[in-house]
Amino acid sequence: MSLPQLNPPQRAAIQYLDGPLLVLAGAGSGKTRVITQKIAYLIREGGMNARNIAAITFTNKAAREMLERVGKLLPGSELKGLTVSTFHSLGMQILRQEAPHLGYKTQFSILDAYDAGKIVADLLNTTSKDEIRKVQNQISLWKNDLRAPESCLTESANAFETVCARVYLSYQDTLLAYQAVDFDDLIRLPVQLFQTLPEVLDKWQNKLRYLLIDEYQDTNTCQYQMVKLLTGVRGMFTAVGDDDQSIYAWRGANMENLRLLQQDFPRLKIIKLEQNYRSTARILRAANSVISNNPKLFEKQLWSELGLGEPIHVVQCKDEEHEAEVVVQRLLAHKFEHRTRFADYAILYRGNHQARIFEQALRNAKIPYLMSGGQSFFDKAEIKDVLSYLRLIANPNDDPAFIRALTTPKRGVGNVTLEKLGAYAGQRQKSLYAAASEEGFRGQVQAAQYEALADFCALIDQLETRARREPAGELVTELLQHIGYETWLLDSEDSPRIAESKWKNVLELVDWLAKKGEADGKNLVELTQLIALITMLEGRDEGEVDAVKMSTLHASKGLEYPHVFLIGCEEGILPHSESVDNGMVEEERRLMYVGITRAQRTLTLTHCVKRKRAGEWQFVDPSRFIAEIDANDVKLFGRPGAEPLVSKTEGRAKLSSLLSSLDAMKGKGDNG
Ligand code: ATP
Ligand code: MG
Repeated sequence: MSLPQLNPPQRAAIQYLDGPLLVLAGAGSGKTRVITQKIAYLIREGGMNARNIAAITFTNKAAREMLERVGKLLPGSELKGLTVSTFHSLGMQILRQEAPHLGYKTQFSILDAYDAGKIVADLLNTTSKDEIRKVQNQISLWKNDLRAPESCLTESANAFETVCARVYLSYQDTLLAYQAVDFDDLIRLPVQLFQTLPEVLDKWQNKLRYLLIDEYQDTNTCQYQMVKLLTGVRGMFTAVGDDDQSIYAWRGANMENLRLLQQDFPRLKIIKLEQNYRSTARILRAANSVISNNPKLFEKQLWSELGLGEPIHVVQCKDEEHEAEVVVQRLLAHKFEHRTRFADYAILYRGNHQARIFEQALRNAKIPYLMSGGQSFFDKAEIKDVLSYLRLIANPNDDPAFIRALTTPKRGVGNVTLEKLGAYAGQRQKSLYAAASEEGFRGQVQAAQYEALADFCALIDQLETRARREPAGELVTELLQHIGYETWLLDSEDSPRIAESKWKNVLELVDWLAKKGEADGKNLVELTQLIALITMLEGRDEGEVDAVKMSTLHASKGLEYPHVFLIGCEEGILPHSESVDNGMVEEERRLMYVGITRAQRTLTLTHCVKRKRAGEWQFVDPSRFIAEIDANDVKLFGRPGAEPLVSKTEGRAKLSSLLSSLDAMKGKGDNG
């Protein structure tokens, strides 16, 4: 098999099959490309069956892209059974088969952070979002460290940890009672199984004989254990990563895992890649120079043959509204001058809250945009309403889904009845659904209320049997008609316009279920579990449309764009004030490094002079990371004595005519 467009170390990484391999290299050096090509190589040259190979990516989107790229190297028939997924979906795949070993049925529910938060709120008996979040975080960190609740309790270091550990203990009981798992469990439970049941481990080791892991630097302890257990003594895996891009410490990612790999696999071979194929020399120099302020874990060099390129533009703006306006103007001017597509631009930011004002500015200028890393389609209230029915159909013991579905639309079951049901279910140690149809409960509430509950349960029963056989799209359409969801939306929303747009979203969901169900041969239950996973990291696949990409820095990992605007480069935002207070500046610097290295040809950094914080205007300083870039590689705009905000060729006066000419150009397919 010829291996086109690969440099010698990349080729060596692909052909190395003698044992565990770590490809350690900086951004844009072709690590992900190594994984993609190695999958094809393993099948073609290594004589492996696709079903024995698993490639693990960080997001579902990355998984789809990888599958697409491998699809260009090999025909579909040779790829049958190949696993390309995130740690979480691999975990789900394992759990679906092994759930009974853990006291779960295969149709378990997957709770999102919101529903999990509600359980924590109940256990803590609080409504303080801050408290709930802190306790949830602690539990999550423990889970990712593979700590059992009992040991957390006995080894707790302070009062806060004791509270968390108690909640953790009851939280797990509650989850089991609901037949639900949270996101962390999707990885933790398979690891637990592998550790306790050798025959289960053996089965999966035999199934997944070669693992490839992208973005290895962001694995947490639990994920690392999964890799270690699955690959066993054979250690047949290729991990690729970049310690300078480790940006998930807050979610338990542990850079030590890079070092551990060497320790746990003494035969580990390390290959370094040093040529960057993504960015101009200037962008690369800026990235190298910023990251050189962090202590080095592994020595790496990066160089590029793509020419010197433009200096990094650093643009000072008055405030955030001005910042959005300036970015939009510069983007339009650049697009006009260089005949590019909207899809060639990305606006990246540290936190989602920065995006709102930019969305407005883009909309005003009629620029199409796509957001990732923000609120997902599946997080919308109307979608979650419908999903609560689907979850309940899959698993009637899912109490959070039961309550949401029962009360949306309202069907004559009052709060008093619900409270009584909750208490009764608690005594009987049953789910709400199971308790509702018990004779013992009948006497406790009015006959009409009992009937309403019984009707609801009967509806779920009926749908549960049908869900296995009937096409998902049609079944959900019928369900929506039956519960009168559209009418309910119209009645409950103040504005008919909002109700309509919500209904449109619901129809889109139905459409998605119908298409996905048919394409993948999945029934409603399987689709419901799939959606739970999609919600975790990102939205739907938006497909290839010509739109500006808006994304958090975290969600931009692994991606590349010709022209990047990195906004809000200010002290307090990037580095984030909380991180500065907690001594986490190095992680923020890596985030900056990730941002800079997304850019292929041009990079613009913006910062404001003042910004509103908690309703008060405050003067803010430019990010320290800007000063870490060599002044010779930077061109300043918007400061006294510096270039004007929009340069001469991109003169402000021309902008209104630019806007209209762009409008006129639309649809002419102006590629550049
Ligand atoms: P990141 O650290 O950001 O995830 P990466 O190391 O995974 O980056 P890739 O995304 O695999 O890098 O590659 C960066 C770009 O360089 C891609 O557009 C890829 O197609 C291109 N590329 C990689 N290797 C080569 C090569 N040998 N020849 C030409 N182009 C290459
Ligand atoms: Mg990559």
